[in-house]
Amino acid sequence: MSRIVMKFGGTSVADLDRIRHVAQRVKAEVDAGHEVAVVVSAMSGVTNQLIGYVDSAGKLADLREYDVVVSSGEQVTSGLLAIVLQSIGVNARSWLGWQAPIRTDGSHGSARIREIEVEDLIRRFGEGQVAVFAGFQGIGPDGRISTLGRGGSDTSAVALAAALKADRCDIYTDVDGVYTTDPRIVTKARKLDKITYEEMLEMASQGAKVLQTRSVEMAMKHSVRVQVRSSFNDAEGTLVVDEDEIVEDALVSGIAYSRDEAKITLIRVPDRPGIAAGIFGPLADASINVDMIVQSYSADGNSTDMTFTVTKTDMDRAVSVLEELRGELKYDALTSDPNVVKVSVIGVGMRSHAGVAKKMFTTLADKGINLQVISTSEIKVSVLLAEEYAELALRSLHTAYGLDAA
Ligand code: ADP
Ligand code: ASP
Ligand code: MG
Repeated sequence: MSRIVMKFGGTSVADLDRIRHVAQRVKAEVDAGHEVAVVVSAMSGVTNQLIGYVDSAGKLADLREYDVVVSSGEQVTSGLLAIVLQSIGVNARSWLGWQAPIRTDGSHGSARIREIEVEDLIRRFGEGQVAVFAGFQGIGPDGRISTLGRGGSDTSAVALAAALKADRCDIYTDVDGVYTTDPRIVTKARKLDKITYEEMLEMASQGAKVLQTRSVEMAMKHSVRVQVRSSFNDAEGTLVVDEDEIVEDALVSGIAYSRDEAKITLIRVPDRPGIAAGIFGPLADASINVDMIVQSYSADGNSTDMTFTVTKTDMDRAVSVLEELRGELKYDALTSDPNVVKVSVIGVGMRSHAGVAKKMFTTLADKGINLQVISTSEIKVSVLLAEEYAELALRSLHTAYGLDAA
């Protein structure tokens, strides 16, 4: 007998037929004698619709009411799945975030899970009961509903698996596993049998939304055995594992992209000590995260151009913060561009092999694609390019690194 957590994403619970199908998969695990906790997302499209309502309702004074509205999608799915399970003879009970409870910090809208109380759940496992959790939600220190950020049901599932010391955490989604790149864009993408926590973390944080970044952090920290697999077939999925479990050490294991970037350039900023602090300090104070940064060579020794990226949703706010500081920063002009995409190649093999970045740059140059900003870390190289080249860049890099499926 094993204890398992099964998480089903939005497409997997998109309507009642699919929820019935999910119920059969849950029943199969219960019939095999396992203790099962299920985590569900909102039905596909529902969270976007709820966010749309919030945006139209009026100026948002604080995120507590946002959380009340957007968390409701998962409540519906958890209740529906519990009903369907009961109707096919499975002893099931729905759970909302406040009921376990799943305790989070107070950052409404993107809260972090702090602890989950599982004693009652474990007692109920002993009575043969299946727990059906509403993903994406918890309860903050203020006693109010909190949500975990987009894609947060993955994190609910992994956190639950860690707290329950589950043997497995299976993430059921609408693709067969983790691929070398988004299979919806590159048809030659190849499914990976295994990927390291570290690579998965980098893939997720660079935009591959198949797992929420925090869920991978949490799995890594607590050594949760995560498998990403399809809810529509029985094919083996992708296991996220420690590096020592990987036999084949590919130089590049995946390519991620993010359309959630926007580029801002300050033209001719005086080149003096303290200028970076003068720009990025106020942005940080306004809770605007800056990702890539490049400062151009100062040809005249007096002024320089500073280019950086923020998320698309923060672009307008960042521009107004900087416009207010124009007198102080004394730049000549400010430009902003939301039509950019960040493409990243990722692989632990990069630690020990040179030439990955060179191949990236020459491949993109051969296609006539201009690189606007470049950044690197130990296991990734990222470039910013015009959005219209996103697919061409992904496809050509995928081929260049030998990742295409046979
Ligand atoms: P769910 O609703 O099940 O949580 P998501 O839409 O959040 O599913 O994540 C699955 C999607 O992630 C896939 O449909 C795919 O388009 C996208 N994706 C991006 N990069 C990858 C990748 N490297 N491997 C697999 N899927 C990816
Ligand atoms: N429903 C939430 C979202 O769409 C959480 C999730 O699906 O993981 O972001
Ligand atoms: Mg998701």
